[in-house]
Amino acid sequence: MATMIEHWVGGKRVADPGGRRAPVFNPATGQQRAEVALASAAEVDEAVRVAGAAFEDWSQSSLSRRAKILFAFRELVNSHVEQLAELITDEHGKVLADARGEVQRGLEVIEFACGIPHLLKGEYSDQVSAGIDTFSFREPLGVVAGITPFNFPVMVPMWMHPVAIACGNTFVLKPSERDPSASLLVAELWQRAGLPDGVFNVVHGDREAVDALLDSPDVAAVSFVGSTPIARYIHQRASATGKRVQALGGAKNHAVVLPDADLDFAADHLVAAAFGSAGERCMAISATVAVGPAADRLVEVVSDKARAVKVGPGRDSDSEMGPVITQAAKDRIEALIGGGADQGARLSVDGRGLRVDGSDGFFVGPTVIDGVTPEMDVYREEIFGPVLSVLRVETVEEAIELINANPYGNGTAIFTSSGDAARRFQRGVRVGMIGINVPIPVPMAYYSFGGWKDSLFGDKHVHGAEGVSFYTRGKVVTSRWPEHQAGSAASYSFPTTS
Ligand code: NAD
Repeated sequence: MATMIEHWVGGKRVADPGGRRAPVFNPATGQQRAEVALASAAEVDEAVRVAGAAFEDWSQSSLSRRAKILFAFRELVNSHVEQLAELITDEHGKVLADARGEVQRGLEVIEFACGIPHLLKGEYSDQVSAGIDTFSFREPLGVVAGITPFNFPVMVPMWMHPVAIACGNTFVLKPSERDPSASLLVAELWQRAGLPDGVFNVVHGDREAVDALLDSPDVAAVSFVGSTPIARYIHQRASATGKRVQALGGAKNHAVVLPDADLDFAADHLVAAAFGSAGERCMAISATVAVGPAADRLVEVVSDKARAVKVGPGRDSDSEMGPVITQAAKDRIEALIGGGADQGARLSVDGRGLRVDGSDGFFVGPTVIDGVTPEMDVYREEIFGPVLSVLRVETVEEAIELINANPYGNGTAIFTSSGDAARRFQRGVRVGMIGINVPIPVPMAYYSFGGWKDSLFGDKHVHGAEGVSFYTRGKVVTSRWPEHQAGSAASYSFPTTS
């Protein structure tokens, strides 16, 4: 019988024995490794109720108590990097070194949240008027929900819950049902760190669970990360019930290579950014924009490096790239590659039909498609696989226009040795995160992460100062102690300072 992955509510594992289930696969073998419980609306409501009850105490806990628990949680996650990485690799497929890197980037958000006493400091103005002071502070929202994608099963939830909990909220996480196990280990680590039961909860599920969170009158805010169509849906539905929403969507990230760039340096980074994690990163480079006459040489060098990538199971220390998440993802990626060729692009490296060690793993080899134009499906679709398209333009201005015409605006990069060109680029592109000779410009935890246009619905980016702002609301107090104010009298005109 397959292992059952249950929910985590009120500090323990629970699941309706008669509830729906979904299979969880090991993408490297193509075999089912477990099944995950899919929460009903009633189970989600119960998790929200438990989180609501825990909010009463947790929202009143002192900043130093919260910081101590966060420090303890940080230590526990740090001492479980290997276990978390193995769970990620076995259900997502990415290679272990990459999975460790994911946990490391999650740890950085926990470290940021350890500074919560500083982050929640308000402002104080003495004597704004005679005998009157004004000060501000921020309060938690209540029960907040996180709905997260398959591609970073530890890091993306950690963009949310350490900050939300540090701010005094309680949290219900609905992780991806495709790689759900790591979230349960994270829940146990929170408990061991001393977090009161009910403050962090996990419900697994599909649309039924998500809709129950979106519609619940007791959920104050929703953070979502996933594909653009679902992000748009989440934003609309949760906003309709008055919730605060940040919904991060999909991407098509362009890397522009100017003729003055170090070609070998650029090619090395392009290959790593396109094929690392089998291209299943929202910040993966999926389109290279080759500017000017060096394009042929760039395609040649990138293609040679793409052919040299070692594809294999994530647990194998020789592997540089693992499988994609499901058989359906593999079929879709291969169909898009074929469609690119049918529409007139040239397959410089074709990764279709790859088998590794005779297994049924969901492997697709690195693929480089040259001569791509903006009308082709291979460019219009977010492929989310190890596929790098090459487009050609003549100037940096044309490259900027191309990027700005794309509906997504998550990340972009430029490779150049010209400070002037880089500056024109950083000012000209309508994109949230920009790398200059840096291919995957994921900001550190103390900055905020988020895209523009169809890559983000809502106002606030995640973690950093915007994360703290998203999970809190402000109060401003104007105070006077009249016993010290001899002779003051009520006035019926609008108050002004004196
Ligand atoms: P997805 O949109 O399919 O799923 C994301 C979450 O939504 C999951 O928890 C899933 O269970 C839920 N969901 C799926 N279908 C739903 C539906 N019809 N109704 C309600 N909920 C539903 O995304 P994915 O395939 O898990 O992840 C890949 C996508 O996430 C890519 O598009 C990638 O670009 C994006 N992503 C974006 C960022 C970012 O920061 N912008 C980061 C990581 C991933």
